[in-house]
Amino acid sequence: MSRTLVRNIFVVVIVAAAIVPSRALAQTSLSPVAPRREVVEAVVREAYDKFRGDTGGKNADYIPYLAQVDSKLFGIAIVTTDNQVLTLGDVNYSFSIQSISKVFTLALAMEELGPDKVFQQIGSEPTGRAFNSVPAVVDMPTHTGNPLVNAGAIATTSLISGKDADEKWNKILAFYGKVAGEQLKLIDDVYKSEAATNTGNKALAMLLAKYDRIYSEPFDSVDIYTKQCSVGVNASQLARMGATLANNGVNPATGEQVIKREDVPYILATMTMAGLYDSSGGWAWHVGLPAKSGVGGGIVAIAPGKGAIAVFAPPLDEAGNSVKAQKVIEYVAQKLNYNLYSPSSVGLK
Ligand code: GLN
Repeated sequence: MSRTLVRNIFVVVIVAAAIVPSRALAQTSLSPVAPRREVVEAVVREAYDKFRGDTGGKNADYIPYLAQVDSKLFGIAIVTTDNQVLTLGDVNYSFSIQSISKVFTLALAMEELGPDKVFQQIGSEPTGRAFNSVPAVVDMPTHTGNPLVNAGAIATTSLISGKDADEKWNKILAFYGKVAGEQLKLIDDVYKSEAATNTGNKALAMLLAKYDRIYSEPFDSVDIYTKQCSVGVNASQLARMGATLANNGVNPATGEQVIKREDVPYILATMTMAGLYDSSGGWAWHVGLPAKSGVGGGIVAIAPGKGAIAVFAPPLDEAGNSVKAQKVIEYVAQKLNYNLYSPSSVGLK
């Protein structure tokens, strides 16, 4: 072997040795206080058994498709920041992401415009009103309220750049896919069902136009928003989307930085303010985790630095949040010491 070849091999080995462990470290950034897998498994099983028979709540019916979904479907998925996956129940059923999409369009808008511009053009104040409230648009000084109520979400969608509606929509869908770590698809029947009945959202968009708080053609923006709400996810995919937020914007399965690290705290703060609409205050009180619900029956909650839990169960309470999903997440979060406001969540005895 020539001396140059030997030297080159040596250099490659040294460089590889330097890169591999640091990549591995960056991607297995599991918090030192994350609970052990056996403990998580046992707690998830307990929650599943305890709440499986719960009959509280009722499927959303203002979107006709959602009223037809089997109300007994029930799935739980946890994905950790080091990509451990734990699932139980109906975790392969693809349901519509609905309002949970708002979180990821917010992330994309921040990617494009930066957080200051998004804060200025949308805001982050809780409305204390229903997610589709018209009075909130009139009364809130910003009119848009925040990116997680319908008005603010439609305005956030209107911020996404593109030469036409199709380009914007394809960009949104591709972005969700990167956050989930696999391509996602529109559930066409959900889209058609909502598009045929979404007069309330069109009214919100026109009202925003009156206040100059929507940034593209209002009805196009509602249409793209309706599509983003009709994207299908299963509980595992949703948990992975949440885990990407828990992991500083790096998808734990693909290792790709898909959301800017510096944007994550803004997103999680917004979820704390408004993720469960007008019951976000009660949720923060009882659970203490940023979360987002959708009227399709999904909720995802984020334990920053540890992972995310997604639960799917269609029947909703009055505010539009899945009854079983809230109970499961509250139970699991409490048992695993996830509450962000508790100093013991970071290991303090
Ligand atoms: N697409 C639904 C709507 O606009 C989303 C609402 C929700 O999930 N809360 O009404």
